[in-house]
Amino acid sequence: MLLLRLILLAALAVIAFHFVRRALGLPGPGRTGVEPPQQQVMRRCAYCQVHVPEGESTQSRGHFFCCEAHRDAHLREQR
Ligand SMILES: [Zn+2]
Repeated sequence: MLLLRLILLAALAVIAFHFVRRALGLPGPGRTGVEPPQQQVMRRCAYCQVHVPEGESTQSRGHFFCCEAHRDAHLREQR
């Protein structure tokens, strides 16, 4: 029963391959694994010019800031 043994071996190899791939966290077939990063609007801190994602930025008077400290510092300078 050489044929049966070969089929069993092939099935075991396929199962092992799937387990290894899943363990490594690699993408499955049909996917390139290269997905475009989620589009995130970047805002520049009006104080230190650092770019931060809009979700993490602080906004005040039409300006964006990387943190509240820079927002406060910028507003202090405006006065
Ligand atoms: Zn800043």
